[in-house]
Amino acid sequence: MRLVLLGPPGSGKGTQATRLKDKLDIAHISTGDMLRAEIAAGSELGKQARSVMDAGNLVSDEILLGMLESRLAQADVSKGFILDGYPRNVAQANALGELLARIGQPLDAVVQLDVPTELLVERIAGRAKEQGRADDNPESVRQRLQVYNEQTAPVVDFYAGRGTLARVDGVGELDEVEARIHQAIKP
Ligand code: AMP
Repeated sequence: MRLVLLGPPGSGKGTQATRLKDKLDIAHISTGDMLRAEIAAGSELGKQARSVMDAGNLVSDEILLGMLESRLAQADVSKGFILDGYPRNVAQANALGELLARIGQPLDAVVQLDVPTELLVERIAGRAKEQGRADDNPESVRQRLQVYNEQTAPVVDFYAGRGTLARVDGVGELDEVEARIHQAIKP
């Protein structure tokens, strides 16, 4: 199963992706986690990405594509994968399509987690307390939501136009939302 999980910041993408990875025994590829690991390691890439991420903006398409390409070349990906946090704009969606075609691993499904904005803000505030993510401060959150609306929402239309999109209600208990996703991606 090769899956893209889309949704605004705070929609529960990361949590659901972790659950799906365990259930389906596929690789969980979170570009946000990969970037945070680069920052933690103090790499050159991490240094470049840090201020951009803290401000709630998107790291360059070029950096992301390079990172993704090397991740997709790793052995564990052959059993399938769930992409969490990529693509974030239409250029990335096109690049992903080309990359997957080239390696002969087309997507099976794209799922959009729908959550109303008021709830997103509330959830991110809760996460900020629990995890202390540097980009979970109010200003950055506002910017990430704006970036989502301007750049990532068109990705939802991109996949809808290709008939590969399933929309899932992301409001409810974690088990409930997960069950909806399984239902949506059933072959
Ligand atoms: P996330 O953990 O998915 O919310 O990502 C955290 C931050 O990492 C985002 O706000 C961006 O700054 C950066 N990021 C993650 N994925 C991407 C991507 N596909 N393209 C550009 N920036 C990204």
